[in-house]
Amino acid sequence: MKQVTILGATGSIGSSALDVIARHPDRYALHALTANTNFEQMAKICQIHRPRYAVMSDQQSAEQLDKILSGSATETIGGATALDQVASDAEVDIVMAAIVGSIGLMPTLAAVRAGKRVLLANKESLVMAGSLFMAEVANHGAELIPVDSEHNAIFQCLPMGASAGLAEKGVTKILLTGSGGPFPDLPLKDFEQITPQQAIAHPNWDMGPKISVDSATMMNKGLELIEACWLFGMDEANVEIVLHKQSIIHSMVAYNDGSVLAQMGKPDMRTPIASALAWPQRITSGVEPLDLLQVGQLDFEIVDENRFPCLRLAREAFRQGGTSMAILNAANEVAVASFLNHQIKFTEIAKLVEATLLHVVPNSSDSLEVVLEDDARARKYMNQLLVQSNLGS
Ligand code: NAD
Ligand code: MG
Repeated sequence: MKQVTILGATGSIGSSALDVIARHPDRYALHALTANTNFEQMAKICQIHRPRYAVMSDQQSAEQLDKILSGSATETIGGATALDQVASDAEVDIVMAAIVGSIGLMPTLAAVRAGKRVLLANKESLVMAGSLFMAEVANHGAELIPVDSEHNAIFQCLPMGASAGLAEKGVTKILLTGSGGPFPDLPLKDFEQITPQQAIAHPNWDMGPKISVDSATMMNKGLELIEACWLFGMDEANVEIVLHKQSIIHSMVAYNDGSVLAQMGKPDMRTPIASALAWPQRITSGVEPLDLLQVGQLDFEIVDENRFPCLRLAREAFRQGGTSMAILNAANEVAVASFLNHQIKFTEIAKLVEATLLHVVPNSSDSLEVVLEDDARARKYMNQLLVQSNLGS
């Protein structure tokens, strides 16, 4: 029986993980579930899934949850530091890192430092602190298994157990597929008018609001490019982005003998979650079998980086190295939140991120402190830009 902690249990990935785990009560028990403020949803899922601990980062929400769950099998804990605790408790085997954004970095690192099997959905932590994060994985013997559908697909297509030295194993290229979000064909002149509601309506995937906006700007593919480079020790030049609107192939690995291995499946995150939970075994996930005859056709196209400047910015930030990626990530988080709050236009996301990258000078990412400082500097500068643009409008 494996004990599992889910960081970000009330989110889209958290819900899919709970669905898969509930199908296998003989294999998995829930140690802890965590959320930020949504105590009502947390109460519901605790009543169904009965974890040992329920953590609310927000103290007031913890008090509310505690009232609802009093007398139940679940103990409520409040405060952000409890995230690190339930991610590293001795009895925990597996930690699902599914908090959105840079706030997920510290609890995910706590799980890594405790040598857990870490199922990584929170790509932002790897983007902002990739080299330090991967060094911690190696130092503490943690087992890092990607959940992001593309990276889980690549992981499945690599030689078993390979994480570095892929060139020696014949890997020549990673082909990272992307659907292009909801606007692959919208005329560029109409991008200014895109509303938050339109941007979060992804045609193939049902996801949280932040990653949905990232998919629409294709910053998501940029973050995933960086994520792939860190996870698999690849150079950015050997990661090719391929537009694949059907979201059936989740990514591919090319080998020096001409073979290209692809992982396919319905666009449903329960497949990569089940794969990462049980790896190298296989368990059922509740996902319907893929019917290729019904799909009929798989299309591949080149991505026009002029339509999606965020993709170019992410590639440049990786090339620049150091804390550039933390600056990119922080600026993007602030920009996306402002767009979702109707403060800025869709097209301003890329412009403001680019302005921040030009202004905030990166450092070499020697320590976590430096990364966090540069994350804070980027947020501060972004907020100044937002105030200026509000004054100007
Ligand atoms: P979501 O918005 O649906 O859920 C986010 C979760 O994070 C919630 O449980 C929330 O309580 C928690 N959270 C938010 N702010 C917090 C804070 N300040 N303190 C503590 N907890 C906080 O997001 P999601 O779509 O499930 O995405 C989660 C992560 O997984 C993201 O990093 C995303 O990029 C990645 N991911 C998601 C998908 C998907 O299909 N949704 C696919 C691939 C990768
Ligand atoms: Mg993805």
